Amino acid sequence: MKKPLSLLIVRPSGKTQREWVQTVQTLLQVSASQFKISAFIDPDPSEDFCLIASYEQIPFGKSWTEIKTHNEAYVVLAEEDRASAGVPGNVPVLPFDVIELLRHEITAKFSLLSVLTRLQTFIQTITGLGSPETSFAEMISTATRNFLNARGVIYLKTSAHSKTLKVEAKSIEGNFLLPKDDLALPSHFFREPPFIQNPTTLHSPSSAPPLLREFIRNNPFYLLPIDYHIPYPKHFLLVIPDTLEYNSLKTTLEMKNAVELCFPLLGTSLSLHKNHLALKKKAELDTMTGAYNRASIEEILSNEIAQTKLQGNNLSILMIDLDHFKKINDKFGHLAGDEVLIELTKSVSEALRSEDRIGRYGGEEFLVILPGTTTKTARSISERILSRVQSLTFLKYPDIRLTVSIGIASYPEHAPHLTGLLAIADQMLYNSKYSGRNRASAPKERIEPTEQGVVSQ
Ligand code: GH3
Ligand code: MG
Ligand code: MG
Repeated sequence: MKKPLSLLIVRPSGKTQREWVQTVQTLLQVSASQFKISAFIDPDPSEDFCLIASYEQIPFGKSWTEIKTHNEAYVVLAEEDRASAGVPGNVPVLPFDVIELLRHEITAKFSLLSVLTRLQTFIQTITGLGSPETSFAEMISTATRNFLNARGVIYLKTSAHSKTLKVEAKSIEGNFLLPKDDLALPSHFFREPPFIQNPTTLHSPSSAPPLLREFIRNNPFYLLPIDYHIPYPKHFLLVIPDTLEYNSLKTTLEMKNAVELCFPLLGTSLSLHKNHLALKKKAELDTMTGAYNRASIEEILSNEIAQTKLQGNNLSILMIDLDHFKKINDKFGHLAGDEVLIELTKSVSEALRSEDRIGRYGGEEFLVILPGTTTKTARSISERILSRVQSLTFLKYPDIRLTVSIGIASYPEHAPHLTGLLAIADQMLYNSKYSGRNRASAPKERIEPTEQGVVSQ
């Protein structure tokens, strides 16, 4: 291995104590492999400098003659200091500028190294996509904030409708507060987003639209579009850098490097997230009717019951079964039967509120979840469904007339848990069928289901 270069460093007369100490510190951090510092000459040593040099066991003195070791390959000094430092003419000299250049390069390398270390954590976090407890926006905000060493990251989504950037998630240090949650945007932001076209440009406050500029007057920020590859990005990260370090070379360099590294990853994770949601949705739905499939409607019911329990609220379910559906298949064929199921799903869905859910529970049997609904309301919703279904007609099959039978069960009135509710709704559906069909039934009082099913009413 090459022997490291041995250097004697002379403090240039133009350097302040602070700059000199910084230079000495950086040199010491990297000296071992590339060069070795044999001694320092500092005509007016500060306390900090003496401490550092002594700690590193590097000899130092106020002049050439005071220094005992002269076995160095080079003396590093500012050219004009040669005489005053008393360095003889035959000693080889390196200009101090070389050290300054080296120091900048080292600082840049260090900042890149620190960025790469954090990048590893960032990638680990964002590849943990799909965690049910954390939303995508929350996860990205936190991961990006850690990665960029930022004071805060706010995940914003444009809402073309209300002309605002809506705050989806925040990860902010301390009690930094936004003036209000949604940032109003001037309308031209949506037509001509001039300051968001180049994703790797760090945006200064002055290039932001006027209203945002007002908000960030005292908080310099970077607005980074995540879905930058589309003409009008919808997802943004507003990054608030650490204000104390905002103007330092290190932070700007580090931030710039980091932003350039994380951009493609953010874009990719957003696409992955969207694909993940689409696939999840596809897997949850019944392909023919578009209602939830049995597994997912049961999962939704289980979550809704837990939620209802926590809130001390009510919930009702409806078990709906087509009457004499077999006859429709027999008379009009399976294709007609399929169309009936599709239209029935549509018709029942239209009778429901946005928070209600419908799932295909079996062949021609549907489970409807009505959160926050008592038996009484569930009865009137059932009446509405019965009359809608009765009036359904089919252009291609004018002779088809439909009716359904419905079983109602309510939490906590009839049963305290999922299996109990399902068993009771099933029992009530059976009651509706055998008391003449085209009707809804609910228990008169609480029924205790056994392991085998429902005992009796
Ligand atoms: P009930 O009033 O007692 O419910 O009589 P029903 O004929 O509706 O009940 P049954 O259980 O005897 O028959 C259900 C029929 O539903 C039988 C089955 O072929 C049909 N079915 C189930 N799934 C589908 C489907 O996806 N498409 C079509 N076309 N028919 C289906
Ligand atoms: Mg049926
Ligand atoms: Mg059935």
